[in-house]
Amino acid sequence: MPELPEVETIARDLDRAVSGRRIVATRLLWAKTFDARGPSLRSLRGDRVTRVHRVGKFVVFDLESGRHIAVHLRMTGQLLADGSSGLPKYARLVLAFEDGGRLVFADARKFGRWRIIEGDPRDALGIGIDPYDPALTPERFHELTRKRSMPIKTWLLGQRYISGIGNIYASEALYEARIRPTRPAGRLTRAQSGALLAALRNVMRKAIAYRGSSVDDYVDGAGMPGEFQKKLAVYGRSGEPCRRCKTAIRRVVLAQRGTFFCPVCQH
Ligand SMILES: [Zn+2]
Repeated sequence: MPELPEVETIARDLDRAVSGRRIVATRLLWAKTFDARGPSLRSLRGDRVTRVHRVGKFVVFDLESGRHIAVHLRMTGQLLADGSSGLPKYARLVLAFEDGGRLVFADARKFGRWRIIEGDPRDALGIGIDPYDPALTPERFHELTRKRSMPIKTWLLGQRYISGIGNIYASEALYEARIRPTRPAGRLTRAQSGALLAALRNVMRKAIAYRGSSVDDYVDGAGMPGEFQKKLAVYGRSGEPCRRCKTAIRRVVLAQRGTFFCPVCQH
């Protein structure tokens, strides 16, 4: 599932590809792809995309009308800015632009969702602060973990306190910060909280530079895979030697998610 670096890569690509373009037609090929509780898909006709950016793990399209489209890619969703005719096999939703180009949402497993938001996207989506928000100081990060007894890795995945982090980068950042994924969030020391925030920012910044990790179906806005999967230190490496101490990387399941760590250098 795409996480912050993959969604950031897609959003940056799409910002270049579709910002400034006016929507003239919409087509929904799989009804559940569009969350119809808000404004209708049809209401996008005549509106113009002013900017594409990331909010948590959502790709958000700001519109001239002041509204926003929020897209969650889930397992297999792909946003493809595409000028050609003919649709990809798993096309679920299409926006056609005034200039003849279009944006196609393809989604083999059909879990991806689109919705239209009026008001602030982060509030509407109910998600916490962004890891790169300058307001997220080490002190604030530490404060957010207080009195939380869940494992720190599960806390990172929750989206409620801090948003954008998923399974891959939680494991990677905890390894870099030398923190055991099972440690209760509320038991991190001030120094560990600071190290973890720095590791999250560092690992995901590098992943963005490599255009994300393609461990499942992730592709960028041009349909190309990322490269960071080759750089992962622990994720998917159970039984392989730790790059610091050579101990075999271990895999455990936390909150139904595969979790990778070094049993020697993470405490
Ligand atoms: Zn180790």
